Amino acid sequence: MSHPHPDLSAPAPLQAGGLRVIPLGGLGEVGRNMTAFEYDGRLLLVDCGVLFPEDHHPGVDLILPDFEPIRERLDAVEALVLTHGHEDHIGATPYLLRERGDIPLVGSKLTLALLGSKLREHRLRETAQYEVAEGQTITFGPFVLEFVAVNHSIPDALAVVIRTGAGVVLHTGDFKMDQLPLDGRITDLNEFARLGDEGVDLFLTDSTNAEVPGFTTSEKDISPVLEGVFAKSDQRIIVACFASHVHRVQQVLDVAVAHGRKVGYVGRSMVRNMAIAQELGYLTVPPGVMVEAKELADLPPERQVLISTGSQGEPLSALSRIAQRSHSFVHLEEGDTVVLASSLIPGNENAVYRVINGLSRLGANVVHKGNALVHVSGHASAGELLYCYNIVKPRNVMPVHGEFRHMRANADLARATGVQNVVVAEDGVVVDLVDGIAKIVGKVEVGYVFVDGTTIGDISEASMKDRRILGEEGFLSVIVVVDSVTGKVVSGPEIHARGFAEEEATFDEIRQPIIDAINSAVADGANDSYQLQQTVRRVVGRWVNRAHRRRPMIVPVVIEA
Ligand SMILES: [Zn+2]
Repeated sequence: MSHPHPDLSAPAPLQAGGLRVIPLGGLGEVGRNMTAFEYDGRLLLVDCGVLFPEDHHPGVDLILPDFEPIRERLDAVEALVLTHGHEDHIGATPYLLRERGDIPLVGSKLTLALLGSKLREHRLRETAQYEVAEGQTITFGPFVLEFVAVNHSIPDALAVVIRTGAGVVLHTGDFKMDQLPLDGRITDLNEFARLGDEGVDLFLTDSTNAEVPGFTTSEKDISPVLEGVFAKSDQRIIVACFASHVHRVQQVLDVAVAHGRKVGYVGRSMVRNMAIAQELGYLTVPPGVMVEAKELADLPPERQVLISTGSQGEPLSALSRIAQRSHSFVHLEEGDTVVLASSLIPGNENAVYRVINGLSRLGANVVHKGNALVHVSGHASAGELLYCYNIVKPRNVMPVHGEFRHMRANADLARATGVQNVVVAEDGVVVDLVDGIAKIVGKVEVGYVFVDGTTIGDISEASMKDRRILGEEGFLSVIVVVDSVTGKVVSGPEIHARGFAEEEATFDEIRQPIIDAINSAVADGANDSYQLQQTVRRVVGRWVNRAHRRRPMIVPVVIEA
């Protein structure tokens, strides 16, 4: 098995007839999935998603894949293939299109519809779109694409086959193998087998659940649990789930109808996505069941169901507002039931538990995946991946979509089935498929691109570190005025603190040492304010660390007057 190596250098130019794979995001993290394939000087992109920030990204709205390795070659991009409509696969597309607006977009009907509403929100013109379905073939430059149905936690997901002179690549996208999905559309193992017979040279597979033994539970198994929750409740029920989980919403609708309840959506993305899903026929809404969420409150509580966003504890979401009693029209009553029918994405735990606590404090019965089967994963577990490897019999495997541990577990599964060559790469690690063998050939720089308010990519990892220091340690400013001729301190030091000891007296013991340090620096020949500022920073830094065991951000300002 090949490992990424920290001292990899930039790859040599791609050999003629070879296919290059450049992961720009999603390998080493759960989110911002994006892969570039290069053949004969042309590029094909698969997915362009966002990563949601965690607690250690204060103030960041979104994290994008890094387009830098392909930025100079955007003209060579033949198409962007979107495997399904989840944010971590389509969410960064508007940002890519701002750099080149006419990249052809390829995806299934639902994927393109969800993307379309996103592009309109970003006020981007809709570019050439190629709607594809399973079994279809379409060619872009040297890339001959074919699509295979896969089952996932959103309808209409596709795996993509990429045929070039270098061989056959099969990219699963996100998938699982639910044998009894609500829409009857299973992962097409017949097609996987046929491709296996033809010969798959490189198989890129979803690693998210590779550490989970066995098989992912069927979506349908949630229904009886919801049924039980509804049967027990004689007040209002609020169900929070992902705004793209059409089948989860379908199950809630069906149970609500069975119990004579009416349903309203809360949360902008829920309203928007479910309208799209209903219009395109992916969601079947029984007549008379839907009510405007605001009007739902006119009904008796035992006839109300709200389907809401905010299952990940997003602070501005409908559910968070409800938990904080700040939602404009949903006011929780003691004895109401709240169901969090969703996963707990790593990094969101604190936020989710905060919401659960807030709801519990208001007297709600909270049902979540920790105490009931109200969520199943959208990803293939180890057992399903083993089936895939045995059916596809690929020559080379490259695990994708997941943290390193997930990709590593996925690699072990592939090897256990006898796959000879397994390549574990991370973002930026370049893999070439040449003469039927996939190999790591180098590395390109791939960083985190932060979207922060209206700026994209202006916030660096260094400023993120500053924000963490500000958040955890606070801030100290020291202002000193020195005589421009003698270097003597004529005013100050004036010390201001935020998020640190704010008592004036705290700083009394350090004022004189600052003056002494400046005087001795001047005596040693320091003659500009930059040098004196460094002196102040050192003295104050040592003192804070010794006397307070803290490392606040220190901003020294020395003014020559
Ligand atoms: Zn997905």
